[in-house]
Amino acid sequence: MDKKGRFFSGLVCRECGRKYPPAAIHVCEYDFGPLEVAYDYEKIAKAVSREKLAARPETMWRFRELLPVAGDPTVGEQVGYTPLVKCDRLARALGAKTVYVKNDTVNYPTLSFKDRVVSVALSRAREMGFHVVACASTGNLANSVAANAAAAGLKSYVLIPADLEAGKVLGSLIFGTNVVAITGAYDQVNRLCSEIANKYGWGFVNVNLRPYYAEGSKSMGFEMVEQLGWRFPDNVVVPMASGSLLTKIHKSFNELVKVGLMKEPRAPVKIHGAQASGCSPISTAFKEGKDFYKPVQHPRTIAKSLAIGTPADGYYAIQAVKQTDGGCEDVSDEEIVEGIRLLASTEGIFSETAGGVTVACAKKLVQTGKIGKHESVVLCITGHGLKTQEAVTGKCGQPRTISPKLSEFEKIYEEDFMNK
Ligand SMILES: *Cc1c(COP(=O)(O)O)cnc(C)c1O
Ligand SMILES: [Zn+2]
Repeated sequence: MDKKGRFFSGLVCRECGRKYPPAAIHVCEYDFGPLEVAYDYEKIAKAVSREKLAARPETMWRFRELLPVAGDPTVGEQVGYTPLVKCDRLARALGAKTVYVKNDTVNYPTLSFKDRVVSVALSRAREMGFHVVACASTGNLANSVAANAAAAGLKSYVLIPADLEAGKVLGSLIFGTNVVAITGAYDQVNRLCSEIANKYGWGFVNVNLRPYYAEGSKSMGFEMVEQLGWRFPDNVVVPMASGSLLTKIHKSFNELVKVGLMKEPRAPVKIHGAQASGCSPISTAFKEGKDFYKPVQHPRTIAKSLAIGTPADGYYAIQAVKQTDGGCEDVSDEEIVEGIRLLASTEGIFSETAGGVTVACAKKLVQTGKIGKHESVVLCITGHGLKTQEAVTGKCGQPRTISPKLSEFEKIYEEDFMNK
């Protein structure tokens, strides 16, 4: 802890290691490398223990020493600690032994993992004195910024591609935020946001506040390890948009060892990346054995939340997968729908398109042997299906409508009985 009560000292460039103060900056002036939060792990090791954490409320903030907020969190105090669900029926369908779902479809308050990153970014934004917060989003981030800003009394602007699902658009508008829809792909939205951030000095959670924002993703990794009874899984499958969540889950496992909460595992947790084939710059580069991806100009997939053609953390995601002996897969729109339906019909969990991507990619990773049949795997299911209803509408059958007569119901029941 420094003079200001922080467990983080500032920012550091991932490429050259130059140090920066903990301000609203995100790229190194010398080599344009991304800036990351630098922690004092020795001090954190002295401050945390499994017993101490267990006594805290069940939210992501029980790992607060490893999150870049100087004082108490003031935005999203209730976020996180979503269920880790043991999925035996899904496991049988996938041909794997032990499958868990980290179920962020029920994250508070906007039903996606983005509430984790936003609570950190906005808590930090308040500490730095921002009054207007904003984001470039593929949908879920906009929902979370809008809701959490409303609850914190902050003014917000959310910028999205104009072709998003109705549930994602309404899921921002309802909070009284300023929604700006851009006719273009996410990359164009993102570029515009960089210009606005420079000109207006607002706190863009995934632009100038990105180093703080990104750290929030680690909580998903911390929680799954604690929920497994302080054990690492053998594998984790992570959906990738910018690649940030995947790199931060990797970092979270390493940090648990650094601060003494976990012993070094015999082999690293294999980290696998999942994308949609209609926008798969990271998984395609990985499969071709390349370190650098080729940008996708025109994403074409129902998994809009993952449709980022120029993923900011793509390079680092590939390194994390390589270092841990993981793999990458990508799947078609049909496979995504099948994945959504499989998770729903085996485990009662309705995920958005990104969840379908994760389940379908996990299936391929088991089939190819990348995930061993006797290993354990955690699937990161990151958003709720009610927000992307278009993806499955008309693909799950129709209700059969009858008049309120027992005889009519019996006709239906008989039909079902005959079809068995
Ligand atoms: C944003 C998002 C992701 C992953 O985002 P990264 O940019 O890779 O961190 C995964 N799933 C859903 C549902 C998302 O909204
Ligand atoms: Zn640098």
